[in-house]
Amino acid sequence: MKAHDGMYIDGAWRPAAGPDVIEVVNPADEQVVGRVPAGTAADVDAAVRAARAALTAWAATPPAERAARLTALRDLLDARKDEIAETVTAELGAPLKFSQAVHAAVPIAVAGSYAELAATYAFEEKVGNSTVFHEPIGVVGAITPWNYPLHQIVAKVAPALAAGCTVVVKPAEDTPLVAQLFAEAVHEAGVPAGVFNLVTGRGPVAGQALAEHPGVDLVSFTGSTAVGRRIGAVAGAAIKKVALELGGKSANVILPSADLATAVNVGVANVMSNSGQTCSAWTRMLVHRDQYDEAVQLAAAAAAKYGERIGPVVNAKQQERVLGYIEKGVVEGARVVAGGPEAPRELGYYVSPTVLADVTPDMTVAQEEIFGPVLSILRYEDEEDALRIANGTVYGLAGAVWAGEETEAVAFARRMDTGQVDINGGRFNPLAPFGGYKQSGVGRELGAHGLAEYLQTKSLQF
Ligand code: NAD
Repeated sequence: MKAHDGMYIDGAWRPAAGPDVIEVVNPADEQVVGRVPAGTAADVDAAVRAARAALTAWAATPPAERAARLTALRDLLDARKDEIAETVTAELGAPLKFSQAVHAAVPIAVAGSYAELAATYAFEEKVGNSTVFHEPIGVVGAITPWNYPLHQIVAKVAPALAAGCTVVVKPAEDTPLVAQLFAEAVHEAGVPAGVFNLVTGRGPVAGQALAEHPGVDLVSFTGSTAVGRRIGAVAGAAIKKVALELGGKSANVILPSADLATAVNVGVANVMSNSGQTCSAWTRMLVHRDQYDEAVQLAAAAAAKYGERIGPVVNAKQQERVLGYIEKGVVEGARVVAGGPEAPRELGYYVSPTVLADVTPDMTVAQEEIFGPVLSILRYEDEEDALRIANGTVYGLAGAVWAGEETEAVAFARRMDTGQVDINGGRFNPLAPFGGYKQSGVGRELGAHGLAEYLQTKSLQF
């Protein structure tokens, strides 16, 4: 795979400050597919300075011109969609079809949505005798994970640029190649030098330097709750704004009136997709006790079908972690009805699509985010019991409700402590706000709500 040996700072690829290098490994076959420089605090500092220097001019650029750059960026990503898919497949191990349909297509749609929003958003409004201006918050430090490597970058950079902010991105160690491809597209789109900057590197070095840099006005982070907590603490001490997209343990609530087979099959597909590495995945399926055995059978059969089709998890550490969780589930009393805690292949970091039955709400596998292809099926007695179980974790990112009538599902969804709920399956909407209640995070991404995160308001009274 093509890789740059420098950092994209102030409109050009520049040599890294230090000699450290990150090897990018394809988790499907454990082959090295590229090498990128591991940035240090000096690289981060150069990038933040460039972003700061570019801020005034970009913030003053008319929204229509910012929209034009985003439209060009969207079109360039679209023109390179095959290359994007191949790159994500090489560094994440995702099956090529999935990379095309999701890893490439979703960020293109999100970039397009912000091209439109940049042109139409009300950056100025009248409130009584005041005029309220929504102004860019300043320099954004974006720290992103590997699970949807391009989407996570676009979901931060596109609204930030639409808002008039400038950005420094620190992508995940495992997936820096598609981040470099994105930097090329930003460059070709004619985004002025310094408005977007990329520093590849390790979390505790480059990531931490970016989170702590006094020149950054807003840190936008997606990843683990542990790191998010630290970034939130640093931002709190510096009184700067922070946006956190963290973990989830979302409930898929199947009410007795639902079409059970559809709900179970879609539920299994949701969890196995991207090898279970989706923060919003419906990892807890909640089924009424009278339908429980049938649901378990259906889920086991559905998971077995996925055996050949899902890719590996991202690296050896995640594989070990996910297999460890399955083992812990068994020790605590869960019953394996598909997959299991053994690695299915010698080569590559694979985990079999796994379904655990007889899971109770207190078990580790019902409380902690596993981030692998593992579904837990829990039994409920009645609707109140289902609601207690659904709301009974520290997380609140997403969820699903299935019922015969939409109104019944909506009534239940309104009582869930969670940021997004799919009704009878739902459909991805790039304009719908996405983000967490409780410990799943702070702030929202996507659509107008995602854009608002990058703005601060000023009011003039007349
Ligand atoms: P992570 O939180 O360690 O990494 C996310 C990003 O933060 C990466 O770019 C990383 O380099 C950076 N980072 C790491 N330490 C940092 C620090 N001290 N300061 C600043 N930045 C730092 O996540 P991970 O280790 O890649 O994955 C671990 C777990 O996180 C997963 O098993 C999963 O539970 C969760 N996760 C959640 C999401 C999500 O979308 N919510 C995405 C990926 C991982």
